[in-house]
Amino acid sequence: MLRIALQSKGRLHDESLSLLQSIGIRLDEQKRTFLSKARNFDIEALYMRDDDIPQLVAAGTARLGIVGLNEVEEKGADVDIAARLGFGGCRISLAIPKGDTYEGLDYFNGKRIATSYPNILSKFLKENRIDARIEVITGSVEIAPAAGISEAIFDIVSSGSTLVSNGLKEVEKVFESEAVLIANRTLDTGEREILDELLFRTDSSLNSRGKKYILMNIPTGSLDEAIRILPAMRSPTVMPLATEGWCSLHSVVDESSLWEKVKLLKAIGAEGILVVDLDKIIL
Ligand code: ATP
Ligand code: MG
Repeated sequence: MLRIALQSKGRLHDESLSLLQSIGIRLDEQKRTFLSKARNFDIEALYMRDDDIPQLVAAGTARLGIVGLNEVEEKGADVDIAARLGFGGCRISLAIPKGDTYEGLDYFNGKRIATSYPNILSKFLKENRIDARIEVITGSVEIAPAAGISEAIFDIVSSGSTLVSNGLKEVEKVFESEAVLIANRTLDTGEREILDELLFRTDSSLNSRGKKYILMNIPTGSLDEAIRILPAMRSPTVMPLATEGWCSLHSVVDESSLWEKVKLLKAIGAEGILVVDLDKIIL
């Protein structure tokens, strides 16, 4: 039984569980317990605060964990980053009062910076030879300048709206983060096999993100042109239709270029275009 530490509640909780569910791992929904076993996979989940997950995995109490890369870096935990999971994206940035002029990192010399990430910040300041004082606070960092605790802050930003509503502006993006799957460094062979299976399934789920399956009817004369518009994984699937001179073309397309391609395909005679959600792509 391989134990995986997950955030008990908070921003990563739901997506961690839905990722596991999307790869066929169903955890018992006993909400109030801190441990739950998967019904159909040799795994049990341990629900913890995200702050504790990196050390638990480094120490081996949990063999795997899903947590923000920012927490792993801040705690300096000695773990393997087995996969980036593509959710929980954010950055840790330096922000200052919005009325101040900013011409570069020199701004921070002699200033106080409030943060919940003192280790990441002090490493950054040292690398850039900036002499600032770090004020550690664990919550509501964005109010520190207004409260007279500091002149600047170093905090998590995703959309930036919290900064704006506190009269601050982001001036340096220091650390990019997302949720990661971490692993203890001393997995035995059996544990490694379970991790490899998890990674294989996760990949197939992540590969399908942002992609759509597209199928359409196309006049045979336009087929070569359509294939140029729609490169597929190997090559598009082409099937004859009962009507002479027409065929059906199937392929996978990036959602970001979907509408542009649909326009081009319609212009060369494509009809009955269907766009279908994709769940897994197993390469
Ligand atoms: P816990 O109770 O588990 O200690 P928390 O309050 O420390 O939770 P959350 O706010 O739930 O943490 O955030 C968990 C992680 O989500 C962060 O460490 C970060 O990696 C990621 N994240 C993504 N976007 C944001 C955001 N806008 N603000 C904060 N964290 C974010
Ligand atoms: Mg926390």
